[in-house]
Amino acid sequence: MKDKTNILLIYTGGTIGMIKDYKTGALKAFNFKELIANIPELNQLDCKLKGISFEEPIDSSNMNPEHWATIATMIEDNYEQYDGFVVLHGSDTMSYSASALSFMLENLAKPVIFTGSQLPIGDLRTDAKENLITSIQIAALQENGRPVVQEVGLYFEYKLYRANRTTKINAEHFEAFASLNHPPLVESGVYLNVHYANLLKRPTHNKPLQVHKVMDDNIAVLKLFPGLNRSVLKSILGIPGLKALVLETYGAGNAPMYEWFLQELKNAVSGGLLIINVTQCSGGGVAMGHYETSEKLKEMQLVNGKDITTEAAITKAMYLLGHKIYGEHFKKNFETSLRGEMH
Ligand code: ASP
Repeated sequence: MKDKTNILLIYTGGTIGMIKDYKTGALKAFNFKELIANIPELNQLDCKLKGISFEEPIDSSNMNPEHWATIATMIEDNYEQYDGFVVLHGSDTMSYSASALSFMLENLAKPVIFTGSQLPIGDLRTDAKENLITSIQIAALQENGRPVVQEVGLYFEYKLYRANRTTKINAEHFEAFASLNHPPLVESGVYLNVHYANLLKRPTHNKPLQVHKVMDDNIAVLKLFPGLNRSVLKSILGIPGLKALVLETYGAGNAPMYEWFLQELKNAVSGGLLIINVTQCSGGGVAMGHYETSEKLKEMQLVNGKDITTEAAITKAMYLLGHKIYGEHFKKNFETSLRGEMH
């Protein structure tokens, strides 16, 4: 008989590990031991659990690429010893971190499941227990001695999604995340229902895990809105050192046709700025050239973000620029699905 599966919990912070200070009413971070002690149910799980923690657990609003590298290192250092990883993370920036990790962990063949909660673990009505327990069970799922999930996922409120397809859509509901352009990988009801067709195709030959920790943060995001004026656009495009701009356009990738607007973009592109066209809609994607209002963007060779989320676009750009991939090469790589983040 095979030994129990080994799962490593990585605690970074967030509401899941907080407790209410009943004197002040404010939420403060637990330490990891206290967190685990609050979920005695963990002892009943059919797997071996170990935990490691950020020295200082953080609210995820304070996350940055250095923290992502820390999480990547924790996974790299423990990759051989564990069958799966569960990362406890605040929900606010979870989609960014989980997307980033999906790019940083190349040839990943084990589950890395991000989860958190809307209510702290110490709260009577907490969603933390279900999220954590089911994430561990999903990370422990094996078939023919191999993990069922071999990618970075995000589990929240009964659904496991591909992490780089998710967005936080609600600040109050337990169902805080959506993945509008890719269906759930696993759904939790009476049974854990694995949707095999939605999982990333497993690697046929086992290439070793490669961990990429250099992310280039010389990027910006601009969401188009009616009334965006020339001087605002010009200053954003002219930011010194800016290498890529994620441009959130309307609908299927459309933008105004004003002469000045197109001219400013054209100048920036010819100066070497990589402009990525993503839609500001939550679902669907960019179809450049479908409308007159996106034809010019296509002619200008804007990078086609297709149906990628803004979170994945930002982290994919950081990852490619971190590899010093620029120009045509960047466009080609960005427009190719690297970790199932676009169709
Ligand atoms: N502010 C918290 C965080 O993202 C919210 C949460 O954990 O859900 O760290």
